[in-house]
Amino acid sequence: MTRGTGAQGAARRRILSFIRDNGEASRGEIARAFAMDKKAVSVAVETLRAEGLLAVSGLRESRAGRRSESLSLNGGHAAALGIDLGATHVIGVLADLAGTVLDRASYEIRPGLPVDLILTQMKTIASRLLSARREPVVRAAGVCVPGFIQPEEGISLVAENINGWRDVHIREVFQLELGIPVQAEDSSRSFAAAERWLGQARGAADFIAVDIGYGIGMGMYCGGVLQRGGSWKSGEIGHTVMDPEGLPCACGGRGCLETIASGRAIARQAAEGIRAGRSTLLRDLTKGIPEAVTAQDVGIAASMLDGYAISLLVDAGSAVGLALANASAILNPSVVVLGGGLVSSGRVFVDAVKDAVRRHLMPGIGQDMRILVSRLGADGPARGMALMALEGILEGTRSAAAGTRTSVSTSDGG
Ligand SMILES: [Zn+2]
Repeated sequence: MTRGTGAQGAARRRILSFIRDNGEASRGEIARAFAMDKKAVSVAVETLRAEGLLAVSGLRESRAGRRSESLSLNGGHAAALGIDLGATHVIGVLADLAGTVLDRASYEIRPGLPVDLILTQMKTIASRLLSARREPVVRAAGVCVPGFIQPEEGISLVAENINGWRDVHIREVFQLELGIPVQAEDSSRSFAAAERWLGQARGAADFIAVDIGYGIGMGMYCGGVLQRGGSWKSGEIGHTVMDPEGLPCACGGRGCLETIASGRAIARQAAEGIRAGRSTLLRDLTKGIPEAVTAQDVGIAASMLDGYAISLLVDAGSAVGLALANASAILNPSVVVLGGGLVSSGRVFVDAVKDAVRRHLMPGIGQDMRILVSRLGADGPARGMALMALEGILEGTRSAAAGTRTSVSTSDGG
């Protein structure tokens, strides 16, 4: 089959995308999904198996009682490295073509760490994971950072929640370090990609994935295509204005969602509460140092039924739910996936988000929309990033055998 171009190239991309999006599929399902001739599907599948991209993962019985082979991506064909930089962590994941995690490593970083030191820690994690792995060969890497990205050049333009992080030439720096093609992406988009291929949004063409941690970001798919916006800056739900007279935001604006409901905002409010004597439990958890309190501490206090901590999480969840109701009225997603540190802090926050969405969303839009909590944990963005880095292999624009192509496709894989 001709790679990359022409009708056969298109069939190849469709088949591989369909199997990745659904986890597995039979030849008959592929033929039905694309109204393709069964024989043409079989020929294409045999070529992809010969190339090592597809494997038979089992047998399934059709309604007519006939057995057919289930096809899935062949994890052993290639692996990629995904590095996720957040305001408080660096997480590295090695994943194979099927998305299985082969190895991982992480560092906690404290806010305010110099950019050079952060980059050194990212390179250390990447090199350590790369050098420990022989099979499958690591063909590509991806680095995700919250904030504005110029994906064509692989430049991270700005990350408001990381001090001094401006115009970091991710691709250049990491390609030089690792010697494999490197792609850069916004971490909310790699989180959304992970949910689509491995998580709660599998099979959903229209969904949003919201990452609520130190900051708040959103990745979205419309019609099965990842959206980046006109200048790659879409998804900044954390900087939608909730109160024009509100507190100054790290972005330079005022009253953004992040000033009310992010991990950073909750920590700030909790510190004020401790100083005002509103929670002895939080005071004890932080050994009497209000500045040391984190959103995680608030989650712990809420799980121990501390009324003040619960009220902080309910207020934050309600604000996120209001913003999500507005976003859902515009985008009409079939699934909303909630992820990030605040979501794992417990049910109080998630229930408040769901309640607020129900309260504020226009009747008629919400009834078919599911709000689900991510099950991928902290590694979601890094896993999604690794799979995004492997897209070139599925599209036939990067040779798995050579793995030396350095100009990385930035198409949405649609
Ligand atoms: Zn803002």
